Amino acid sequence: MSRALRLTVAIQLLSASTIVAQQTTPFTVGSATAAPGTTAYGAIAIPSGSDSATQIAVAVIRGEKPGPVVAFVAGSHGTEYTSIIAMQKLISRIDGRTLAGTVIVLPLLNVASFETMTPHINPIDRKGMNSSYPGDPNGTQTQRALSEVTRQIVAPANVVVDLHGGDLDEDLRSYSYWFRGGRAAQDSAGLELALAFGLDHIIVTDVDPGSPNAGRSLSGQALVRGKTVLVAEAGRSGIVAPADLAALIDGSLNVLGALEMIPRKVTHVQHPIWLAGAGARVAADSAGVFFPAIARDTRVTKGQVLGHTTDFVGRTTGDIRAPVDGLVTFIRGVPSMWPRATLVNVAPILEKPAPWVAPK
Ligand SMILES: [Zn+2]
Repeated sequence: MSRALRLTVAIQLLSASTIVAQQTTPFTVGSATAAPGTTAYGAIAIPSGSDSATQIAVAVIRGEKPGPVVAFVAGSHGTEYTSIIAMQKLISRIDGRTLAGTVIVLPLLNVASFETMTPHINPIDRKGMNSSYPGDPNGTQTQRALSEVTRQIVAPANVVVDLHGGDLDEDLRSYSYWFRGGRAAQDSAGLELALAFGLDHIIVTDVDPGSPNAGRSLSGQALVRGKTVLVAEAGRSGIVAPADLAALIDGSLNVLGALEMIPRKVTHVQHPIWLAGAGARVAADSAGVFFPAIARDTRVTKGQVLGHTTDFVGRTTGDIRAPVDGLVTFIRGVPSMWPRATLVNVAPILEKPAPWVAPK
């Protein structure tokens, strides 16, 4: 064997050994420690403080081969059931023996919300569990929990996928978000995952990573820390529909396929419907009863009547009109309303996404 050939073979052996490299160390989140090739189940313990303790269940799937760490988080709104159940079902769809990398699945962040059927907030301290990042180990339950999520989930992850849907009071159409922070590589990685996920409506949301409040949501916290971020929503009004479940489970597997962590053919969305992130929200100005006139996913024009409101004895108190031309991403799905309750959200339809600009 010539010296040159010997060198070539040595290089081939080296690259072959890189290809078949095995992951040897376990990966731990909370009490779940997964050895390579296995799935571990456990919980992140949130000790009591000024209020009660809680446990957040988690599963970790550790691949035999090396690769990225991807975290799937659902249930920061504990009554968005479709996303919670989708993540529960996702766990058994991933096999550590064929996985390259590590997957963390946290199906239900806001346990008290789920257990008491309280939408939007954690009933223990009345705080939003998707608006209080990075949390505080010395704060109330929400803050203590989010502090641990930041430390144990967001920090070690390369990719953070946050799953939502219409809450108990939201008649919502499904969509993904393309979250952009104006950093080209990070933004294009996020776009790639949004197109791979498979939902054909994508809301374009610009964030200024330098602004003090940019990291308050899970997606914002992940974005600020340089992670690839994806947010997807499906489900509505407390209903768990098989098609919505499938959209979130398949979408999550598509993310892993696009990252080449599992063998899976991924077809990217070819012609997404782009929606403006700064949608126009119409809020109630008083307590009373709301009657929608249209459903989610209706294309409306500015000034169109979308519903009306009454007082409790049935006298009409006003019409609810579209503030802009666009698509109704969600409309209130229950009659009860109170001052500042969201009645409808209309997102303008974009021909294509404009370049990122720092929001005011
Ligand atoms: Zn939500």
